[in-house]
Amino acid sequence: MFDKILIANRGEIALRVIRACREMGIKSVAVHSTADADAMHVRMADESVCIGPPSGAQSYLSIPAIISACEITGAQAVHPGYGFLSENANFVQIIEDHGLTFIGPSAQDIRTMGDKITAKDTAQKLGIPVVPGSEGGVPDVESARKAAADMGYPVIIKATAGGGGRGMKVATSAADIDVAFSTARSEAKAAFGNDEVYMEKYLQKPRHIEVQVFGDGKGNGVHLAERDCSLQRRHQKVFEEAPGPCITPEERARIGKICADAVGAMSYSGAGTVEFLYEDGEFYFIEMNTRLQVEHPVTEAIFGVDLVREQIRVAAGLPLSFTQDDLQINGHSIEVRINAEKLPNFAPCPGKITAYHAPGGLGVRMDSALYDGYSIPPYYDSLIGKLIVHGRDRPEALARLSRALGELIVDGIDTTVPLFHALLAEPDVQSGDYGIHWLERWLEENLGG
Ligand code: ADP
Repeated sequence: MFDKILIANRGEIALRVIRACREMGIKSVAVHSTADADAMHVRMADESVCIGPPSGAQSYLSIPAIISACEITGAQAVHPGYGFLSENANFVQIIEDHGLTFIGPSAQDIRTMGDKITAKDTAQKLGIPVVPGSEGGVPDVESARKAAADMGYPVIIKATAGGGGRGMKVATSAADIDVAFSTARSEAKAAFGNDEVYMEKYLQKPRHIEVQVFGDGKGNGVHLAERDCSLQRRHQKVFEEAPGPCITPEERARIGKICADAVGAMSYSGAGTVEFLYEDGEFYFIEMNTRLQVEHPVTEAIFGVDLVREQIRVAAGLPLSFTQDDLQINGHSIEVRINAEKLPNFAPCPGKITAYHAPGGLGVRMDSALYDGYSIPPYYDSLIGKLIVHGRDRPEALARLSRALGELIVDGIDTTVPLFHALLAEPDVQSGDYGIHWLERWLEENLGG
C-alpha cells in the first residue's frame, strides 16, 4: 500500500480523497493555486504544495507542476478527483513514466473512451446496447442526409471529441439537416479543435441512467447498480439518485451484468461509469466516464462502501474488498448539487461566506469545502457542496432532503438551494416522473430562463 498520495484537485473532492487516505493510514498531499492558499483541502491535508497562479491552466492543469510536487513530497501515487486532469491520458502516461501510480484506469482505456466514436464502437463489441446511429464519423452533408433518412428523424449530430454537452445539434426534419450539420461541425471545431461529428437517433423522452462499475485490473468486473441523473440543466446534472426509481430488479441485473462483464473483458482498473439513455425499457449507451463521478456518494450510501478506498486498493494492486454477491442495495439515496449561483439565470456568485452551518442527523451527509469566513474564488467551478441523504425508501429520502435543506445555512452569497426547495414541491419530482428534458421546461415555465 502507498505511504503518501497526492491529490491533483481542490474543493470537496480533494477533501473526499483526504478522508479516505486518513482512514487507510495514508499521508495526503494537497496541491493548490495561490488563490486557494486558505482553502479547506490545504488545511486538511498532511502537507501542501503551491503549484501556480489562480488560473486552472497554470495550476491544477499544469502537469509539470504536479509531477514536481510529487517529487518534492515523495508522494507515490496521484488521485485526480473529477474534472481537471482526471481523463487526460497524456497525464497518466507521464505519471507512469516518472515511476508513480495513477489512481484510475490505464492511459489506453482513457483514450479509448475519450473518443466518442471509438468508445461507442468498443461498447458495441463488448455487447453493450448503443443508440442507433451512423457507422462512425459522418464526413459531409450528403452522408448526413442519407444517415438521417436511414434512421428516421429526429436525429442528433454530435462531436466525436465532445464533452460537457457542447457541439450537439438536433435536426427534426430534412429541412434542418444542412444547417444542423454545419453548425455542429463548426461548434465542434471551435470547442475541441476537431470537427469530426457522428449522428444518432434523437430520443424524445429518455431518462439518464448510469451504471457504476469497478474493475480490479485483472479481468474481474462488478457493478454497483445505477444512478438516475435525469434532472439536468444544459446537459449538467443537478439532482441524482440511486437506485433509479423506474428501473426494475430484472433490468438492473441485466444491464449491470452486461457492464460488469464488459469492464472485466477490458481488464479495466478502478471506478468507471457507463452512461445510458433509457426509454421504453431499453438502454442506449452514450459514453463511459473513466473516473470517479461527482454523484458517487449516492451509490456509496445504498451499498455502504467507500468507492475512493476501493480505487486506492485497486491502484495498489489489491483485490476489491467485495464481490458482486456482497453488494446488496439498502434503501434510497439522493444528492443535490449546491452551486454558488444566482437564480433565475444561474450566474456564478463567488464571494465571502459570512455564515455556514451544515445539516446533520440520521442519513445526512454534506460534502463541502466551505467554512465560516471562507472566500469562494471566482476562478473555478461553481459547485460548493453536495448534500446527500439516505432513507429506507424514496419517500423517506425526499422528506429527509427537504428537512436537511431547511437546516443548511450558507450566508453571504446566492446558491441553488431555493431551486431544490421548489423542485421538492413538484408532484413529478415526488413521483419520479421525468425525463432529461423535464427540468429545462420547468425552468422556462417557472423561472423564465
Ligand atoms: P457530453 O460528453 O457532452 O456530456 P453525452 O453524449 O454524454 O455528451 O450527452 C450529453 C447529454 O446530451 C445526454 O445526457 C442527453 O441529455 C443528450 N443526448 C445525447 N445523445 C442523445 C440522443 N441520442 N438523444 C437524445 N438526447 C441525447
